Amino acid sequence: MGAFCLAGATLSPGRSSSPRDGLSEEGGVVARGRPMPRPRGATDCYDPVVHDAAPATIRSALPIVPPERTAALIAAIRARLPGLRLLTDPVDRESYRRDETAFLEAGLPGAVALPTTTAEVVELVRLAGAHQVPIVPRGAGTGLSGGAAGIEGGLTIAFTQMKRILEIDPANLTVTVQPGIINADLKAAVAEHGLFYPPDPASYEQCSIGGNLGTNAGGLCCVKYGVTRDAVLGLEVVTADGTVLRLGGKNVKDVAGYALMQLFVGSQGTLGIVTEATLRLRPAPPPKLTMLAFFPSLEAAGAAVSAMTARGLGPATLELMDRATIAAVDDWQQLGLDREAAALLLVESDLPGVAAEAELEAAEAACRAAGASFTLRAADPQEADWLRQGRRLAYRALERLGVAHMEDVGVPRSRIPEMLRAIEAISARHGVPIPTFGHAGDGNLHPTLLFGRDDPTAAERDALVRDELYRAAIALGGTVTGEHGIGLARKDYLEVQRGPEVVAVMRRIKAALDPAGILNPGKMV
Ligand SMILES: Cc1cc2nc3c(=O)[nH]c(=O)nc-3n(C[C@H](O)[C@H](O)[C@H](O)COP(=O)(O)OP(=O)(O)OC[C@H]3O[C@@H](n4cnc5c(N)ncnc54)[C@H](O)[C@@H]3O)c2cc1C
Repeated sequence: MGAFCLAGATLSPGRSSSPRDGLSEEGGVVARGRPMPRPRGATDCYDPVVHDAAPATIRSALPIVPPERTAALIAAIRARLPGLRLLTDPVDRESYRRDETAFLEAGLPGAVALPTTTAEVVELVRLAGAHQVPIVPRGAGTGLSGGAAGIEGGLTIAFTQMKRILEIDPANLTVTVQPGIINADLKAAVAEHGLFYPPDPASYEQCSIGGNLGTNAGGLCCVKYGVTRDAVLGLEVVTADGTVLRLGGKNVKDVAGYALMQLFVGSQGTLGIVTEATLRLRPAPPPKLTMLAFFPSLEAAGAAVSAMTARGLGPATLELMDRATIAAVDDWQQLGLDREAAALLLVESDLPGVAAEAELEAAEAACRAAGASFTLRAADPQEADWLRQGRRLAYRALERLGVAHMEDVGVPRSRIPEMLRAIEAISARHGVPIPTFGHAGDGNLHPTLLFGRDDPTAAERDALVRDELYRAAIALGGTVTGEHGIGLARKDYLEVQRGPEVVAVMRRIKAALDPAGILNPGKMV
């Protein structure tokens, strides 16, 4: 396959308006017109994310801590942990009020602690318990469900200073880390040993491993390698009473007792606080072969995904972008994508040698049979990186157009065409543009609601549209959240999806592990 030619434009590494034009000089992503430097190297703290000042509709019964209780806790922390970095200035605390969830109402934490050791976390948990002040564990705050949202007067424990790699063990293919390490930094460190940590949320340059564990994050290559939970071998967890649990380790097989370790993954900081994780690595795969397939209708793209699933194809990446997302990404990154197409699929293989070619040929055949208008291959790894980065930037590209609210529904893969049809119908019914992209290979779609920045009806319509999206997904046997979590944003729908009996069991588990309700109360259950 020759040079990579999209919609009449030929990309080459020497091209002047490269996709990096969209990146800031520091190599960070430009979000909402403001550079977000990659949190690497000498920088100690994450750059706080700028949040839209859109009116909140996602309200909740989050507790409010009486100021005297918060003040007593702060005094006790200062006395017991004089070396701990504790933020109490309101301006500092404001950066920890929200995560990236649009229309979210959240409280201003009374204090933000930045521990560096498990012992400090234990002490913080014990002191917070003694003063009945709730705790919100927090990674990088990129969450899209309100899991790290602040509690008024509460204690947020942010893991930005606990970001060390404790061990890389090539013999056992494991890495042991503190929770604050950024996903991309972990990937880069193990790559130096020829190793690969698969889970790769699109936010991987900003989000932390602790947050990934908290949400059981997915990403672009989960279709082949599984989600975060599949990559965890061991955890150190501080429970609500300050007990330190060591769960799992380096054993690949270990069925001694209940699967507690797995229970903590995805629990959004409501059951325990992760202070260390041992993660499964793989030998680094060869560079990916990358293909784009363009479709005249969204349904045809959905049908291609269903066909690939039915044929048992397991590409490393199988991502979808619809017409509006293609245009938003292309306006920003100037990749020369075909804007006439209703949808594209990004398909990648990381198999060795000719097997990769065979896998992409099979994928291409499935796409053509489903009605693809044309398919293209990236000419080299650089072009492939640009395309993957284009997909990763889909949400940031849409955020440039107005107030964007990324949703996260999932359906069985055979039902993707129906879900895409439902999204189009809901969009038309409410007059709300809903560009859609996502991890099509997992049946996980990100319909993204777009509103004008000055639209006074935005918050209200956002709630109506989300309600219909969730119910459509559930009606198709799907889920209200494939990877972002219930948090605050989808709390009302947990019972709608799971049923009261299941949620009752979840609440009993929460009560058993956190009887005083001190860990991230008001979230998830
Ligand atoms: C542009 C963009 C793209 C995204 N793409 C993806 C994607 O492809 N896949 C995906 O899954 N998500 C994606 N997300 C969502 C988000 O990045 C993930 O949910 C990520 O896992 C959050 O990590 P964080 O460090 O920002 O965590 P936070 O937002 O800080 O926290 C997330 C949750 O984890 C809990 N938590 C944090 N640290 C700990 C700890 N040490 N112990 C216990 N609980 C903890 C928090 O309480 C909270 O409930 C995206 C977000 C953005 C903005």
